[in-house]
Amino acid sequence: MKFHIMTLFPEMVMQGLNTSIIGRAIENQILDLKAWNIREYTKSRHKKVDDYPYGGGAGMLMQAQPVYDTFLAVKDDLKMSHCRVIYLTPQGKLFTQTEAEQLAKEEALVFLCGHYEGIDERVLEEIVTDEYSIGDYVLTGGELPAMVMVDAISRLVPGVLNNEDSATTESLHNHLLEYPQYSRPEEWEGRRVPEVLLSGHHLNISKWRMEQSILRTKEKRPDLYKKYKKVKDNPL
Ligand code: SAM
Repeated sequence: MKFHIMTLFPEMVMQGLNTSIIGRAIENQILDLKAWNIREYTKSRHKKVDDYPYGGGAGMLMQAQPVYDTFLAVKDDLKMSHCRVIYLTPQGKLFTQTEAEQLAKEEALVFLCGHYEGIDERVLEEIVTDEYSIGDYVLTGGELPAMVMVDAISRLVPGVLNNEDSATTESLHNHLLEYPQYSRPEEWEGRRVPEVLLSGHHLNISKWRMEQSILRTKEKRPDLYKKYKKVKDNPL
């Protein structure tokens, strides 16, 4: 899967993502990650990419031209007739695990990171297909949100995780939180690992885990539990 990120800070994105599991997947060519420096595409002699907003107001706005020319370069590189272009913005749809599962089916995704007060609306209208927010707070730029999205989506791309099962038993899959997990030793500071996990009885273990998942979700995330119940009670 290809990720193309349009940003004023390509080194931040590359350094943040090119490590650990995602870094290994890039090395193994399961993922292809490219950060495009919007500043390189400005036609301004002074390499300017921002200006004051018409009508006044706080801060500077990223201009349409450098963003659009970066997009044309990405499009040329991708050689695809259509590709989703995601603008990271606090005004977008909330990014969730369900969204990550949908987006992981795409062949390629393009991300546009805003900075300062955002981006000239006209270029957003021209190139953006989706808008996503990572939460109801305002960050200084779209780089961290892009990294969050690329990380969450990448884990769902076949071959990225060593254990393919892992993503389907984890929290938020099917609107449930993951069950509690334990590792060696069997007893730590007087606390024992639940007997069922030591029994070797696989059916009982999965039954216990499912019960724990449901219980935890009900206690910790009643909002999520409601969604789980709705789907469970009304299967398609
Ligand atoms: N003036 C903009 C507004 O009120 O909608 C906010 C601009 S914010 C300071 C600068 C950039 O950070 C945005 O263009 C966007 O790319 C990114 N950003 C900030 N918060 C975000 C969030 N919660 N989710 C996704 N992107 C965010």
